[in-house]
Amino acid sequence: MKKITIAVDGYSSCGKSTMAKDLAREIGYVYIDTGAMYRTVTLYAIQNGLITSDGINTTLLKQKMGDINITFTLDPETGKPLACLNGVCVEKEIRGMEVAAHVSPIATLDFVREAMVEQQRQMGKEKGVILDGRDIGTVVFPDAELKIFVTASAEIRAQRRYDELKAKGMDCDLNEILQNVQERDRIDTTRAISPLRQAEDAIVLDNSHMTIEEQKAWLLNQFKRVTDGN
Ligand code: C5P
Repeated sequence: MKKITIAVDGYSSCGKSTMAKDLAREIGYVYIDTGAMYRTVTLYAIQNGLITSDGINTTLLKQKMGDINITFTLDPETGKPLACLNGVCVEKEIRGMEVAAHVSPIATLDFVREAMVEQQRQMGKEKGVILDGRDIGTVVFPDAELKIFVTASAEIRAQRRYDELKAKGMDCDLNEILQNVQERDRIDTTRAISPLRQAEDAIVLDNSHMTIEEQKAWLLNQFKRVTDGN
């Protein structure tokens, strides 16, 4: 069967990665979590003192971009991808509230986006990939054969994120998460470069009232619809 490119875009914490990961495993595609890449750059900036109360030291971060090597390895137990920064697994650190609070401003920077988009295009050049993010169907792979735009209410997304972090044993506050989700939505949709928007040829999925199993089945059907007969 001919391999395709699948773009899953949408708002923060709406379950894109869960759906995308599950589909990738089911159909034998490579899954690329592009949000994890922006989170890893953010972690690097935090660890190197490039984010202070005065804001982001963009001059230094730009100079240091070449020192940031982002890779993914597979968790030997779960088979899920783990983000690594310069060879060190940072999966836990990039999911915390500190990174969440700074990632959207970092993702507005043109030189950060250029570097990430370039790497994502390289990773996906052979097709057979499913990427989730904000600009996959509009900028990274505008010719993707299947584009999904996922949405759900901010309250439902915050609750899901809260449950996820709690399950991982992380300390968190529902109200703080809701504010973070809304703030990231605001920055992501209004930034000048590659703002989050639905590609004209994307199929919208509002999963506010769907179970994970229902979403999985829905996405698999979309994949079959596009690839049947190819
Ligand atoms: O998907 P996730 O919530 O992990 O992404 C973290 C942040 O990275 C988003 O809020 C957004 O600011 C940024 N991002 C982006 N473009 C992408 C993926 C993520 O700007 N393709």
